Amino acid sequence: MILLETTKLTRAYGGVIAVSQVDFQVREGLITGLIGPNGAGKTTLFNNMTGLDTPTSGKVHFNGTDITRHHAHTICRMGIARTFQNIRLFKELSVLENVMVGLHFTTGKSPTKGRVAAVVRSYLKAKQEYDLMHEQAMRWLEFFKLDGFADELAKNLPYGHQRELEIARALATEPKILFLDEPAAGMNPLETDSLMKTIRRIRDLGITVVLIEHDMKLVMNICDTITVLNYGQNIAQGTPAEIRHNPKVIEAYLGKEEA
Ligand code: ATP
Repeated sequence: MILLETTKLTRAYGGVIAVSQVDFQVREGLITGLIGPNGAGKTTLFNNMTGLDTPTSGKVHFNGTDITRHHAHTICRMGIARTFQNIRLFKELSVLENVMVGLHFTTGKSPTKGRVAAVVRSYLKAKQEYDLMHEQAMRWLEFFKLDGFADELAKNLPYGHQRELEIARALATEPKILFLDEPAAGMNPLETDSLMKTIRRIRDLGITVVLIEHDMKLVMNICDTITVLNYGQNIAQGTPAEIRHNPKVIEAYLGKEEA
């Protein structure tokens, strides 16, 4: 089943057409890779599917609903979470608090808006909510084996752990789809191997994964299907084996990335 799709999605910035007429499909339960040379439009496509940017033309549908002009927070509540190319953590908050921020987005469980008054009236209720959020956040930290760092400031974590923490925070929003923008960037080979296992475990939880990545070992090993962008256009899609042998992809990208 197609969980998310773009139809003829175009994003132009003045004269620069970053994404041009792209049809892109994400099938439920799979790991989908989005690859292509620098400046091909990958992050722009992510931004336009997650509400951080709005297409110039074209549509985005999620679970059959048109989300083209929805705000990022609405899209997050609908079940789409993401991480960023440059890590965006609350560096002065603890590891645990960073994940609790993610939980804040899940419906009904956090003390927001109208619920604030009720929480102020009832310390006990607030305490119960805090304890529930604490327990849920700890479960995600355990998933990443980061529970031992719960009280550490996020900025003090090694780089690979900071990337995992950002993924943990995204998962705390209980997404149906997780978008990862260059999750292996800056990781050493050991951290990348561990990340590959983690992404498979996330898929095994039933969460659909879409990732942008330049590390071809990771992409070819874990993706069920791959889409290739070049100069803002979708030039190929298929299995890793199909993509690896596609002459257009070799010419545009793979020839430069790997022999
Ligand atoms: P990389 O692999 O280097 O991250 P990418 O495939 O993610 O590249 P994008 O970052 O989406 O590529 O950029 C696509 C094109 O759109 C580039 O030419 C870029 O300069 C341009 N672009 C992206 N965002 C903006 C913006 N906000 N304003 C103007 N041009 C932009």
